[in-house]
Amino acid sequence: MQSNLAYERPRQRMVSEQLLARGVNDERVLDAMLTVPRHLFVDSALASRAYHDCALPIGSGQTISQPYMVARMSQLLELQGHERVLEIGTGCGYQTAVLSRLCRRVYSIERIQPLHDRARKNLRAARHANVMLKCADGRLGWEDYAPYDAIIVTAGGFASDVWLQQLKPGGVLLLPEGEGGDHRLVKRRKQANGYTEEYLDACTFVPLLEGVNHY
Ligand code: SAH
Repeated sequence: MQSNLAYERPRQRMVSEQLLARGVNDERVLDAMLTVPRHLFVDSALASRAYHDCALPIGSGQTISQPYMVARMSQLLELQGHERVLEIGTGCGYQTAVLSRLCRRVYSIERIQPLHDRARKNLRAARHANVMLKCADGRLGWEDYAPYDAIIVTAGGFASDVWLQQLKPGGVLLLPEGEGGDHRLVKRRKQANGYTEEYLDACTFVPLLEGVNHY
């Protein structure tokens, strides 16, 4: 408990200096960022840097996204609390934990087995009961629970057609689009005929890859 308390002040500063100062103003998102213990989602050796303004390694060549990007993407989904959200790229489960406080249920897919296992452990420890995880290629979506109110992709690449198919009409698909680490956030809203889209921040994500890695 003592050690968790020690992270409260850095977490509050992260919210005021990195999020509020840059225009994140959705109260529910700010509250989730203030509540989820980011230091418990990274290796204990990196815990002291968990609230720094950067991405950090989480093993298997992947990263936990910068706090601002997690908050920005969460805000762009415009969640009210009743939604079912599909996340592609669970990683260590931090963004999943934030989303789980903002909607009714999160379904999250990770293609690297050791990260999937680790996210399961992290989320169980944090008692996030409204989360379902699976290890698979997220480019195929998750048909069993479709359609979703929103789909968020946390690896950079190009959209799979399946994602729009698995969205409800009016639902939002948010992804970092592009190649070679040169991405731009794009927000698509499904319409009766096709979708509308908005190109937003330039950003850099780890790549969206095909298939499953068991090791
Ligand atoms: N949201 C995560 C960010 C992890 S980085 C967090 O908060 O930690 C992006 C993750 O997407 C990586 O773990 C990577 O393995 C995963 N990924 C890449 N391509 C994928 C795919 N096709 N299906 C599922 N996960 C994928």
